[in-house]
Amino acid sequence: MNKYDVIVVGAGNAAFCAAHAAREHGATVLVLERAPESLNGGNSRFTAGAIRFAYEDAGDIRALCPDLSEDQIAITDFGSYTTDHFYEDMFRVTRYRTDPALCERLVTGSRETMAWLGGKGIRFMPIYGRQAFKVDGRFKFWGGLTLEAWGGGVGLVDAHTKIATEAGIEIRYGARVRELLFDGHAVTGVRLTADGETFNVSAKSVVLAAGGFESNTEWRTRYLGPGWEMAKVRGTAFNTGDGIRMALDIGASPAGNWSGCHAVGWDYNAPEFGDLAVGDGYQKHSYPFGIMVNANGKRFVDEGADFRNYTYAKYGRVILEQPDQFAWQIFDRKVTHLLRDEYRIKQASKVTANTLEELASKLEGVDPHGFADELKTYNAAVDTQTLFNPNIKDGRSASGLTVKKSNWANTISEPPFEAYHITCGITFTFGGVRIDPQTSQVLSDDQAPIPGLFAAGEMVGGLFYFNYPGGTGLMSGSVFGRRAGESAAFSNRTK
Ligand SMILES: Cc1cc2nc3c(=O)[nH]c(=O)nc-3n(C[C@H](O)[C@H](O)[C@H](O)COP(=O)(O)OP(=O)(O)OC[C@H]3O[C@@H](n4cnc5c(N)ncnc54)[C@H](O)[C@@H]3O)c2cc1C
Repeated sequence: MNKYDVIVVGAGNAAFCAAHAAREHGATVLVLERAPESLNGGNSRFTAGAIRFAYEDAGDIRALCPDLSEDQIAITDFGSYTTDHFYEDMFRVTRYRTDPALCERLVTGSRETMAWLGGKGIRFMPIYGRQAFKVDGRFKFWGGLTLEAWGGGVGLVDAHTKIATEAGIEIRYGARVRELLFDGHAVTGVRLTADGETFNVSAKSVVLAAGGFESNTEWRTRYLGPGWEMAKVRGTAFNTGDGIRMALDIGASPAGNWSGCHAVGWDYNAPEFGDLAVGDGYQKHSYPFGIMVNANGKRFVDEGADFRNYTYAKYGRVILEQPDQFAWQIFDRKVTHLLRDEYRIKQASKVTANTLEELASKLEGVDPHGFADELKTYNAAVDTQTLFNPNIKDGRSASGLTVKKSNWANTISEPPFEAYHITCGITFTFGGVRIDPQTSQVLSDDQAPIPGLFAAGEMVGGLFYFNYPGGTGLMSGSVFGRRAGESAAFSNRTK
């Protein structure tokens, strides 16, 4: 007799969704987390808690946010984010490479999964400020990303932990799962190390939710390519690809964009791994309102190509490809009030100046002459006739340049000037294992379900290629984690 029906490996958002779902269906559940309790929550704890889902109208938002006041509702345009829109975003940003069946499960399952999370006790609130600016007294949400968990990633993980504990789910920290117990037909448990001892625990089924391989320098360089050892890791140091490796070891099929990842502009002086005291504060996501220059003083990317939700996850790679892997983001007084709160943390690598000459001299590593020329050309190209509006793609461009700026172009001309030094921060990797989209069961490289083995979250491959729409990571973990937990609870290892 097994003491546990289901073992869940990892204790981030995907793992907890699996654990709740399995428990809800009567399973006894053990969660094994490699990190000590003080560093719990994986990457999920580092998030802002922003979560993407399809909704029809303000009624759907109100149902998920009972704390919203009538005054807030009166000054907010939540718009809608239909399933069609969600599909379009996924197909467009992944260049039509997303696995259609996985994508369908994600999109069509998103709204009901939000309701399920809400029913479990996870609370949500609108992302005022970051995802909606106040223009003429009203907030208008853009980019399909409207709600975040109360208290961000920390609040989300705390809520998950409380719900799990109250439901009788056992969580063991400092427990690193090393391999799957596999009898040649089915997974029968795990081998782990905890408190200096290595031993086996059996179960009817195992859910792997152990994250990607972003924190493994060697795998990063091997799979993402040369140069990726230079990236800083935005989140946990514990996602080193263990879950993926142990599944591949028993014949799981690899899937998805193994040379791809989510990576952003990240403070140049940030530590090697994420710092829980700073959370996601090292990110610098307001570049659509300014410009970015490299060591030659040159712009290298269209900062205003789209809302930041659709560009930020691919621009980290572009920054890594610049000479010496850095860039400076530059803003003038006209837009500094729009900068996200992460620009005001004391750890920001920031310089200010009252003249452009002074600014040029303060941008460490940048050719001041190249920068001065670039600014002159850029400022002259800005279309000052079109009205600037941060809530829409305003078409206010700077064109006729080597690198166009498509929206939100403003001259860099009014002091004080602010500049932020950034490099590439990797968030998570896109390659992973193949799962059945309906059951989250891991498939073998014969494309057959591996009895007793399920997976969810970052370590599933096939959903994201090249890029990613913001807020989809938590939703993916929730949809497939929930499904993995349900399937695991009913698994009898025969198929
Ligand atoms: C700074 C930052 C901000 C982000 N912001 C957002 C956001 O606002 N919205 C959004 O949707 N996404 C965001 N993301 C992405 C998001 O974090 C992930 O997509 C999501 O949290 C992944 O959840 P997960 O459960 O798969 O992995 P994780 O939350 O990383 O959990 C994996 C867990 O597995 C554990 N583990 C690893 N190996 C083992 C082992 N051998 N044995 C036992 N346990 C193991 C790890 O310690 C970890 O706790 C952000 C990421 C970062 C880093």
